[in-house]
Amino acid sequence: MPVDAGVNIAKEAIDFTLNGEEEQLKDRVQITDKTFQSGTFSYNNLSIQNTSFKFWGVDQIERFVWIIDERCNTCAKCISACPRQVFELKVFEARPKGYIYVTEWLRCDGCGECIDVCNQKAIETGEMVPSFTEKNICYFEKPGSMNTKKVCELVASRVQEGIKYVVVASVSGSTALMMAEHLKGLDAKLIVFTIPLAWKSSHPTIKQEMKEKLISLGVKIMEKAVPAIECGPETIECTGFERSRVEINHVGIWEILHGIGGQGLPTAVEAIFTAVEEREIPIGSQAIGIGGTGCGADTAIVMKATPYEQMLSGPIENRFDILDIIALPKKKLRYW
Ligand code: SF4
Ligand code: SF4
Repeated sequence: MPVDAGVNIAKEAIDFTLNGEEEQLKDRVQITDKTFQSGTFSYNNLSIQNTSFKFWGVDQIERFVWIIDERCNTCAKCISACPRQVFELKVFEARPKGYIYVTEWLRCDGCGECIDVCNQKAIETGEMVPSFTEKNICYFEKPGSMNTKKVCELVASRVQEGIKYVVVASVSGSTALMMAEHLKGLDAKLIVFTIPLAWKSSHPTIKQEMKEKLISLGVKIMEKAVPAIECGPETIECTGFERSRVEINHVGIWEILHGIGGQGLPTAVEAIFTAVEEREIPIGSQAIGIGGTGCGADTAIVMKATPYEQMLSGPIENRFDILDIIALPKKKLRYW
């Protein structure tokens, strides 16, 4: 601890102790006992006897302590073992057995006592050095179809890095065709999410000639797919939507995603959920979803393939998870 910081904390501790108000300092200074071994401590001409202080503070901020929740059985041995009262056992309705909360992580000095008593290997400590990956996100100045070719190039390069499943929202099939051409020769499965069944009277559909072209390129077209989270009024008729709407408020989810990324983001998410529902993508795999604003593509994300029923309320490991953003428009347009 820097000397000045230690001295300041000591001065405050002494002042509070003299006033009998040491409770107020309990988050920063613990008065460990009243038997200071050298006998006398002097400050401001006052002699403080039989008091010792233990300082927790600025020197510990270079360390972290972390509980690996899935390994912890909440035996609470770490709580008893830690000399600095770093942990607390918290219990609430959703976690009736409780969980270990790292309440006072700044106090940790990395002594390792908690690690020694944890037979689940559920505790990590170390230097406060983050590990991270920096990636580029392509933000288009304007939404719309002029961005489609760039999205296709970016997606093709992610496929080359090892993501196999690509789901593209495409009403007429043109965006899907451009994507298919960019994926030629790569180890990818391209799936097309067309319009919801209930929209067929008001929107164009993929023409036979386009269908044949796409199929000849190995593209899978989900023509009868029922969207999982779509919010257009017509889709309320859809069985899948009705089902999911009862389980969780998907209209709200669509709106939130739109607020984050514009129209293409909920569409891309929707496309992946629907492909999982249609068993075109294995649950748990990584998939790229592509959406757009009006027509074409301006959005691409990487998402964990999740059944929509488990989107927000299933097992934690299955829940909705956007793993990466590849491209988004900066400006958003609303059509309803
Ligand atoms: S000692 Fe390990 S297993 Fe037990 S509560 Fe602490 S972190 Fe969990
Ligand atoms: S390393 Fe030491 S100070 Fe840090 S939490 Fe574990 S027992 Fe407590």
